[in-house]
Amino acid sequence: MTLAKITKVVARAVLAPLERPITTATVSIPQAPLVLIDIQTDQGIVGHSYVFTYTPIALGPMIGLVEDMGASLIGKSLHPISRMAEMEQQIRLLGRQGLVAMALAGLDMSLWDAHAKSLNCTVVEVLGAAARPIPCYDSLGVFAIGRDEPLLEKSIGMGFKAIKIKVGGGTLAQDVTVLNAVRGQIGPDIRLMIDYNQTLTVPEAVTRIRRFEDEGFQLDWVEEPVEAEDFVGHSAVRKSVKTAIQSGENWWMPDDAARAIQAGISDHAMLDVMKIGGITGWQRAASYARAASLPVSSHLFIEASAHALCATPNAHLLEYLDVAGALLEAPHHVEDGSLTPRGPGLGIGWNESAVQRALI
Ligand SMILES: [Mg+2]
Repeated sequence: MTLAKITKVVARAVLAPLERPITTATVSIPQAPLVLIDIQTDQGIVGHSYVFTYTPIALGPMIGLVEDMGASLIGKSLHPISRMAEMEQQIRLLGRQGLVAMALAGLDMSLWDAHAKSLNCTVVEVLGAAARPIPCYDSLGVFAIGRDEPLLEKSIGMGFKAIKIKVGGGTLAQDVTVLNAVRGQIGPDIRLMIDYNQTLTVPEAVTRIRRFEDEGFQLDWVEEPVEAEDFVGHSAVRKSVKTAIQSGENWWMPDDAARAIQAGISDHAMLDVMKIGGITGWQRAASYARAASLPVSSHLFIEASAHALCATPNAHLLEYLDVAGALLEAPHHVEDGSLTPRGPGLGIGWNESAVQRALI
């Protein structure tokens, strides 16, 4: 078999339409700023992936990084782990965080997509695992009483057995009111999680979570109560409450995951395939979580995460928050609250006319 050689790397900036804005305690994202990555080969196979820059101001720099880092791949075979090792060497002195890490992960995902396609496989098969339905939770934004009740109804109607809402923009009393309203609507059997998106101090987080415990709220986890980089603060909160703490979406590369897990900052690990180093980085970080017996959930990137979670023995939940579906020829949908990875490759193919409309 002649191995496919990489001939070109193309990056395009888009603002992807969203069904509803992504909201947290501090930001609202009306359209998803994405960079679409295509790795072309001499055998006609094209690897697809995307990265999500959160803000349009990062789109231009991201295109430059992806195409300039991608230039070093030209003429080489796909083999993602080998290519990742070389790219990491190139940026060793620059550092492996922020936009550079995101570009690295985007290229890695695109390499895995093309590599699997070149073997007529899905990525999960190339990873040595079987595709299976991964239970998902519906990731809603900031919940507003009187506005968002239909969203909960829709989630339950879609078969979700777990739902997450964002809190933290207001007072503890407001959080209690919202949690009472949400639990009242979804009943006792749907799992409920909350995300503070890094907005609290340690004492405030402890006060709020203890109050939820006193109120008898059943919360499967409280996510990022304090700043993501604050391992000491996360550990302090975790030691002071009974409720499980979730963290990890802001760990940069597997090295961060190793440090956070070693520091015992959370009861769960939530890996973001873009920040953790693509499929290659995920595999390493998930192993660290496995060694510490932590359940692994995903963050965004539903297509790639579904493949990665199937190959993760300690997999927990997939975050269902679809940022690219409007640009895909076959968007991924939940069935009975679960999502099953599919191919070819990562199962990402562009709807070119939708992409053309979203280009900026
Ligand atoms: Mg979060």
